[in-house]
Amino acid sequence: MTRRTASDRLRKALVVVVSLVAVLAVTGCDPLPVRQASHETNVFTPPPLPADARSRPLGRPGPLPADTGPYKITLTQGTSQAPVAYDPCRPIHYVTNRASKPRNGDAVLREALARLGAATGLHFHDDGATTEVPVPHRPDFQPKRYGNRWAPVLISWSDPQDLADLDGPVVGIGYSDSYGDPGQRRYVSGTVVLDGPQINEWLKQSGGRARARAIIEHELGHLVGLGHVHDPHEIMNPDASVSTTDYGPGDLHGLALLGTGRCFRDA
Ligand SMILES: [Zn+2]
Repeated sequence: MTRRTASDRLRKALVVVVSLVAVLAVTGCDPLPVRQASHETNVFTPPPLPADARSRPLGRPGPLPADTGPYKITLTQGTSQAPVAYDPCRPIHYVTNRASKPRNGDAVLREALARLGAATGLHFHDDGATTEVPVPHRPDFQPKRYGNRWAPVLISWSDPQDLADLDGPVVGIGYSDSYGDPGQRRYVSGTVVLDGPQINEWLKQSGGRARARAIIEHELGHLVGLGHVHDPHEIMNPDASVSTTDYGPGDLHGLALLGTGRCFRDA
């Protein structure tokens, strides 16, 4: 990580949040190890129920294919095999750092988010641009920047020079952080980092747009709780040589499950 500033260190010091499970999602090579960390304090007061939370899910997953396939849930509740998921009764807010955005990056990102929304039923709300840069152990609660709420998901068009994790074959990273007691955990925020220069090169090539969208769909799959499967028909396959360009049957079954998690009336 370069460009570490005093404010970065301050934000890092403000990490008061919850257990965190981060999966470095790697597309183009074998996955990096699952990274787990725990940040617990006894002084953290979670943000209040957001005003846009509803008592019913905002949407529902699209029809499932007759075919089945493998999928992997990144994190389960511990007390059961139920997945940890985003709360479907409230929008998932996101902000975008466009520092290294390809020319058509916004459009491709919108397409990928639309496909994720259709597959999960989750609603994504664009909170606009941010200058926040991805950092390890990003705080999920940044009231000075985002107010008294969970920090929105950070989607960052980055560059290997700014983020060493994007060096080499790594094209994207995606993960979310969970909050709550065992059995009641839910994802509250997350990060997707995309290699802007690499994806920009793809977008200039024939078929590159589908490839770029597939990478984003893969990282968004990690964001909402899918892990890797080594099946050539699934987009959650980490092998970039696979030509799958949209969610496969296993992906869709997993995403539907992750889109129908519990609704919470706290935090
Ligand atoms: Zn991955």
